[in-house]
Amino acid sequence: STETEFSLISPSQLLEDVFKFLGETFPKSIEIEVGISPDLWLINGDPTQLYQVLMNLCVNARDAMPDGGQLTISAQNINIDQQYSYTNHQIKVGQYVVITIKDTGRGIPREILDRIFDPFFTTKPLSQGTGLGLSTALGIIKNHGGTIEVYSDPNNSRGTQFNIYLPISETIA
Ligand code: ADP
Ligand code: MG
Repeated sequence: STETEFSLISPSQLLEDVFKFLGETFPKSIEIEVGISPDLWLINGDPTQLYQVLMNLCVNARDAMPDGGQLTISAQNINIDQQYSYTNHQIKVGQYVVITIKDTGRGIPREILDRIFDPFFTTKPLSQGTGLGLSTALGIIKNHGGTIEVYSDPNNSRGTQFNIYLPISETIA
C-alpha cells in the first residue's frame, strides 16, 4: 500500500509483534536477545510500515548469519541536543526512540557500505534478494522524520548494527 496511516503507537508493542514472528520463523541457530527499556516514549507512525522496516532489517541479519549467531534488538529513549549530520541526512534536535538491530554476521565491506541503501543494490543471488529492502526501509523512516544509521566492520566479528531513529509524538513531547 502507498497510503500512509499515521497513529499514536507504542514502540514496545511493535517490537513484541516482531519478536513473536521471529521466534516462530527464524532458525534456532540464531539466538534472539531483547533489550527494551521500560517507559519508551510513544511515536507517531504507520505501524504496518514500521513493522515492515523492522522485518526487512531482521531478515538481512538472518541472511548475514547462515551459520547462526546472535540477533539483538533493543530500544531506548534518546535526547539529541545538538543537530548532527549522518552521511547526507541531518538529525535534528529533539527526542527520539532509537531501535537498534544488531547481528554477529559477516559484516559489510567498507567499499559497499555507502551503497546498501541504494534501490536494487544487492549482493545476493537474484532469487534471494531484490535490493529493495533497505531503500524501502530508509524511505519509510525518513517519511517518519527519522533516519537509519549503519555501523559495520567485516574485519572483525562484531557484525553489523543498524540504528533506527524515530522522533517521538509531538502530542506527548
Ligand atoms: P537485499 O536483502 O534484497 O539484498 P537490502 O536492500 O535489504 O537488499 O540489502 C542490500 C545489501 O546490503 C544486501 O544485499 C547485503 O549485501 C547488505 N546488507 C544489508 N544488511 C546486512 C547485514 N545485516 N549484514 C551484512 N550485509 C547486509
Ligand atoms: Mg533485504
